[in-house]
Amino acid sequence: MRYVSTRGRAPELGFADVLLAGLAPDGGLYVPVDWPSLPEHLPSGSYQELATVVMAPFIGDDIPADVFARLVDEAYASFRHEAVTPLRQLAADDWLLDLSQGPTLAFKDVALQLVGRMFDYVLGVRNERVMIVGATSGDTGSAAIDGVRSCSNVDIVILYPHGRTSDIQRKQMTTVDSPNVHAVAVEGTFDDCQDLVKAMFNDAPFRDRMRLSAVNSINWARVMAQTVYYVYAAQQLGWRPTSFSVPTGNFGNVLAGWIARRMGAPIHSLVVGSNQNDILTRFFETRSMVADTVVPTLSPSMDIQVSSNFERLLFEMNDRDGGVTAEQLQRFRSMGRLDVETDQFERWIAPVFRAARFDDSETLRIIGEVRSATGEIIDPHTAVGIGAARRHRSPGIPMVTTLTAHAAKFPDAVEQATGSRPVLPPHLADLLERPERTQTLPNDLGAVQRFVESVAR
Ligand SMILES: *Cc1c(COP(=O)(O)O)cnc(C)c1O
Repeated sequence: MRYVSTRGRAPELGFADVLLAGLAPDGGLYVPVDWPSLPEHLPSGSYQELATVVMAPFIGDDIPADVFARLVDEAYASFRHEAVTPLRQLAADDWLLDLSQGPTLAFKDVALQLVGRMFDYVLGVRNERVMIVGATSGDTGSAAIDGVRSCSNVDIVILYPHGRTSDIQRKQMTTVDSPNVHAVAVEGTFDDCQDLVKAMFNDAPFRDRMRLSAVNSINWARVMAQTVYYVYAAQQLGWRPTSFSVPTGNFGNVLAGWIARRMGAPIHSLVVGSNQNDILTRFFETRSMVADTVVPTLSPSMDIQVSSNFERLLFEMNDRDGGVTAEQLQRFRSMGRLDVETDQFERWIAPVFRAARFDDSETLRIIGEVRSATGEIIDPHTAVGIGAARRHRSPGIPMVTTLTAHAAKFPDAVEQATGSRPVLPPHLADLLERPERTQTLPNDLGAVQRFVESVAR
């Protein structure tokens, strides 16, 4: 499979190059030159078997089929449930797709456990190494670290704001005892951490010498790996029209649902759940995307105003015209506003997408209600998804909410809503007592760069 950039000014690449590149050199995101169709007969065995078949056309010859099957098996062997992403029933036509069974208890593991292994394989074949650098305010850092902890060709440095992450989030990063993993507390805010990462990438000699790389949510391979569980859930429900509700931040998860639908999965509608940071919900209601300031909420992984993966859908809405897409995004960056035509909206958005927003008090109420009605203890992100699902249910069509994090990652909110504190699963039960391995550095580019140099193998 070949890939093109959504901004139309980057060379076409194959899968392995797209995997390692992340962002295209013209600032766009890579998408396949065309969307493959699912085969008529999908394997009905394990998640792993289905995953290899669904992803095969995207990978082409870049990873041999037997190697890819092994990487998939290894990636999902780290999940606690044999079904990998088990489906649980809440009520009639009301389902939860549990994406929290990976090692760090958030849905990002589904993609990053595989992406880390693909990175290591491709780098090994090329006899290359990379240094992944990233900034995190919580979930992404631990999932990225866990995805590469056993990789011999990858080092990783993750910057987090000192004293500003939860104990669980910090411990998930600092207790990983692998020689290639470095969690660094920066004396500053999350924005300072992000600025340091950007500055390292902008320092071209440093970037090239260190072979800097990133695994952020715009990486095509992450979106690709997420399409599988939509196909899996539709298959488990008998391959009939099925809707999904997705608590949304960067639009990566719900975009994967759109792609599964484009490939032929029987997906009726895709419901986007927002917290108070509701730029997407406002867009689906008004056809205008208008940036606002970010407010902190109980669902921090959705505290985002610019949903970067939306660019991939916008490219389709523009009939794959990269020039038009680039122009629109340029205008959005300078004016803070993006409008689409009525006919584009009617063709691409209205038939598929629905949206709803929930503030923190509604989120807490939903956590309490779900607990009383089903015994299921959900985290604040999933609660937003359930709220959105309830608002957009159609009679006779199963609605699947993606459960994106284990409740124990957000114990304070869950305790406030239910009166009891959720417990970590057995493999992390002693997490808070484990010894930490961390560095504290000043908010200073020189100091951080010297640290990165000193740990590169
Ligand atoms: C990252 C994340 C989200 C948002 O997913 P996107 O793909 O960015 O839309 C939702 N919930 C949790 C728990 C997350 O970690």
